[in-house]
Amino acid sequence: MAYKSTNPFTGKIEKTFDELSPALLEEKLQRADNCFKTDWRHRSFANRVVVLKRAAALIRERSQPLAELITREMGKLIAQSLGEVSLSASIIDYYADHAEQFLVPEKLATAKGEAMVESSPIGVLFGVEPWNYPYYQIARFAAPNLMAGNVVMLKHASSVPQCALAFEQLLHDAGAPEGAYTNLFASKEQVAQVIEDPRIRAVALTGSEAAGAIVAALAGKHLKKSTLELGGSDAFIVLEDADLDKALKHAISGRMGNAGQACTASKRFIVAEALASSFLEKFQVALGQFVPGDPMDTATTLAPLSSAQALENLLKQVDSAVKHGARVVMGGKRINGLAGNFMQPTILTDISADNPAFKEEFFGPVALFFRVSSEAAAVALANDSPFGLGGSVFTQDIERGKRVARSIDTGMMFINSAAVSSPELPFGGVKNSGYGRELSGAGIQEFVNKKLIRIS
Ligand code: NAP
Repeated sequence: MAYKSTNPFTGKIEKTFDELSPALLEEKLQRADNCFKTDWRHRSFANRVVVLKRAAALIRERSQPLAELITREMGKLIAQSLGEVSLSASIIDYYADHAEQFLVPEKLATAKGEAMVESSPIGVLFGVEPWNYPYYQIARFAAPNLMAGNVVMLKHASSVPQCALAFEQLLHDAGAPEGAYTNLFASKEQVAQVIEDPRIRAVALTGSEAAGAIVAALAGKHLKKSTLELGGSDAFIVLEDADLDKALKHAISGRMGNAGQACTASKRFIVAEALASSFLEKFQVALGQFVPGDPMDTATTLAPLSSAQALENLLKQVDSAVKHGARVVMGGKRINGLAGNFMQPTILTDISADNPAFKEEFFGPVALFFRVSSEAAAVALANDSPFGLGGSVFTQDIERGKRVARSIDTGMMFINSAAVSSPELPFGGVKNSGYGRELSGAGIQEFVNKKLIRIS
């Protein structure tokens, strides 16, 4: 009974689900393979568009119950859950509208005869996804790949099984044939078995470095392509010529959105000496105004963390940071008196390079604060991380912003804003943040066969 919905605000177990039996897993794999070979890969783009457009429309029709499921399973504030539902529908629409154009055959200039590259689907894909954005994470994997003619099997995080089933139901109700999209309540052993299965052609994982390393190693062993979207510890650089109020507004949303549980959340605040004290003072005042409570209540501004374990882990990280010399400017403890897994908004400073916190990802409302004496020092500090997902730089000089953005080793940089995700913007990282891209034109190119056809 590993798949379990536990409400992070009440602590109540709402539902449990059995893992797949071996026979059912086999049946689902065979159905997906049949669907790919005999049906989905042969359909026209126009035919696939009808299914995906209907799925996007159904998400919008069902937005309130879909959002409530997110909030009940992982604790997100209801307004943010509604935002995620809407973004997921936009991603599906985006690929329905643009897939054919992204995959248009390319004619090559060649000395003799004719040559072209066509993009054909590769088969059944397997995705492993995390709980923090339960529909958005699936939409950005499933929508481009379904439009490309692949079929999708998906193991969602075991804490969001109702969201996993709701997404599968959506595609079914939108008219996707049996096997085009399959949810798997798979155990870790079954994940390994699925990756090994010859009917699976490629694997995508979004999650932690530990899970990424295991899944990618298995994919490599069986000679299958993989993409990894892993953790991050994004730098948020404020240069001395920045608009301080604007930077603060983004610092607050960048650190506190989704209760801090986002891979591209702003995590390391690197502020030029000239602005550092006023930034810190105002940041502290703003974080002090968050109101914990029921995430279903629109008056609540601080959501509980997704699980009791997530809170324990974060508290341990803060304790360890402090033991190694960090100073707590505010917070640092759990919020007592409420049933949910609430963490106080926290700011840590004086984090030396040998403090474990310096290199770790803090997945919750904990900001690491650094002062720097120059732009070069800000860049060096931003790059001194095992991660390379995203980052922000604030300056009123856009050319300077671009220079800083180009010198930071990440997959995404945002000038004068916290990280944002939108269907047309490529998403992904370098270093320990993984490889491959999702969203945009890049996201549909990962799992297609770029096939050369030459005519003599
Ligand atoms: P996680 O433990 O790695 O879980 C992610 C998924 O991997 C879940 O479905 C999980 O299943 C599965 N999994 C974990 N260990 C596995 C194993 N040994 N074999 C097979 N599957 C395994 O991640 P998390 O800690 O919950 O999620 C947060 C992490 O994801 C953070 O580091 C965050 O930054 C990262 N993230 C990255 C992105 C991005 O796009 N770069 C986006 C969101 C989150 P179970 O639930 O059953 O364990």
